Amino acid sequence: MTKDIQPTVKTKLRRLPKRGSYYRELIYGILDEAFICHVGFVVDGQPFVIPTAYARVDDCLLIHGSAASRMLRALASETEVCVTVTLLDGLVLARSAFHHSMNYRSVVVFGKASIVQDEREKLDALHAFTEHNIKGRWQDVRPPNENELKATMVLSLPLQEASAKIRTGQPVDDEEDYTLNIWAGVIPLHLTTGKPVADEKMKDGILIPEYVSKYERCQS
Ligand SMILES: Cc1cc2nc3c(=O)[nH]c(=O)nc-3n(C[C@H](O)[C@H](O)[C@H](O)COP(=O)(O)OP(=O)(O)OC[C@H]3O[C@@H](n4cnc5c(N)ncnc54)[C@H](O)[C@@H]3O)c2cc1C
Repeated sequence: MTKDIQPTVKTKLRRLPKRGSYYRELIYGILDEAFICHVGFVVDGQPFVIPTAYARVDDCLLIHGSAASRMLRALASETEVCVTVTLLDGLVLARSAFHHSMNYRSVVVFGKASIVQDEREKLDALHAFTEHNIKGRWQDVRPPNENELKATMVLSLPLQEASAKIRTGQPVDDEEDYTLNIWAGVIPLHLTTGKPVADEKMKDGILIPEYVSKYERCQS
């Protein structure tokens, strides 16, 4: 795979293109750090945008769920899909209401998904979902049984048509507004972990794994 994803008519940024990137490593970094994506698709002329979990394996974005899910059934039938992922990094407070903004890293992916049929690949995908959320967990959990595997549909969307957009830094105010007596700047926002809460039904004597007690989200 190439270092850069080739921009297309759909992914070419028109609005503030200097904030855009097609650098594969950067796009994958955003995908690997975020937890949820929003999946946009149209069924019978009605657009839907559904938030869901995902994982990236190599050059594919994987989505999974119940085989009865409308979203999964629609995607499995070769529907065009648009998936977005957003990391919010800060609130940007400008001197004017107009120039207020947000710092972010976001990705938009277009394409058609296909069902992962192969049992081995499906299991690898479920491994990827678990590890995407918390590295080290898969080795400790009971693996999916045959029924659970059957009930789960996994879809794979190739990362061939994708873009990233990133905003960083301070507000950009109108020149004359810099003399105003108004606080301006950035409030950084981060996702933080709380203290893990053990399940009351857990057997006695089970030690908290390090990947839980020392959990940190940022994987990059
Ligand atoms: C947290 C957050 C807050 C935002 N707030 C606002 C706001 O209040 N108002 C506003 O106008 N815009 C906002 N944006 C930017 C917004 O996502 C769009 O980039 C912008 O509105 C331009 O849309 P467009 O359809 O004209 O883009 P175009 O440049 O026409 O889009 C062309 C292609 O560029 C790519 N692209 C566009 N936007 C993004 C993106 N964000 N990430 C990755 N690829 C992208 C896609 O492939 C898209 O198909 C925000 C973005 C984020 C992540």
